[in-house]
Amino acid sequence: MINTSSHIVSRFAPSPTGRMHMGNIFTALISWLVARKNGGRWLLRIEDLDPQRSRLEYAKIIEDDLNWLGLDWDEGGIEGKGDNGPYLQSLRQDFYEAALSSLQSADYTYPCYCTKADIAATQAPHASDGRIIYPGTCRPVNGKSSGNTQRSPAVRLLMPECCVEFEDMIAGKLHTDMAVEWGDIVLRRADGAWAYQLAVVVDDAAMKVTDVVRGCDLLGSCAPQSLIAQLLGLPVPRYLHVPLICNEAGVRLSKRDRALAMDSLRAKYSPREIIGQLASLAGLVDSPVSLSPDELVGIFEVSSLPKKEKILLGK
Ligand code: GLU
Repeated sequence: MINTSSHIVSRFAPSPTGRMHMGNIFTALISWLVARKNGGRWLLRIEDLDPQRSRLEYAKIIEDDLNWLGLDWDEGGIEGKGDNGPYLQSLRQDFYEAALSSLQSADYTYPCYCTKADIAATQAPHASDGRIIYPGTCRPVNGKSSGNTQRSPAVRLLMPECCVEFEDMIAGKLHTDMAVEWGDIVLRRADGAWAYQLAVVVDDAAMKVTDVVRGCDLLGSCAPQSLIAQLLGLPVPRYLHVPLICNEAGVRLSKRDRALAMDSLRAKYSPREIIGQLASLAGLVDSPVSLSPDELVGIFEVSSLPKKEKILLGK
């Protein structure tokens, strides 16, 4: 069931683990434009599920950077807006719990007692992206799970033998053999932390997101996410995965590319100069000119976006 609601809702879902850079704000701008172009709503969801790496200070700085750029959100963020929010995943655990219970009662899950080391020892990293496919050690046999009272288990999805098809507005139609590419993914870690794949599906549905716009490094995640949505009877959003902004060496920007992080950018440029630069990377203007996000709404077209996985800066 593809979500065909005419009321567009897109979202920006940063993990608060550091300062944003050109790559993150490129994604944020495109996602914002998808909403604004269609008279829709743009929401901000702080994905702070990883207790070790997430910090509220970073979430605050992300909000400040978005405000400075003129990318205003209608729902969510740390405080919430209108009747909605806050949208902090750490506060939404009851929703994930309810979704997990529903998968559990439909026998789509099983407890897994393996440690990371157990799994790594049995399986070579998956060739395409280093992902480790779980070898199925704890899979139930004849409907019975192997018990182990020594430690609390992770919960895995009993991956059905199936091929998931999905469509991305840039990459087109894609299909994924779930057993080969993903295997029995974790839904909740043994330490209780919720898996990204489950939380995103639950939140996108609860927040009525119609359009998921994000970097194309997450294109592969459409397959498990649309499968989980289908198992939960939730609508599948439209997908738009935008090219990744890379440094001159062709490597996706990271915290090491200091010059392209928001603190350096804010020290050197005005918001209009940065938005103009992003607009030119998006193929909306021929050369970087000074622009506000609002001025881009009229000229934004998804079809102008470069049809490639990477945009190299400085070339
Ligand atoms: N929180 C993820 C990130 O910052 C993005 C998740 C998503 O957009 O689905 O990389």
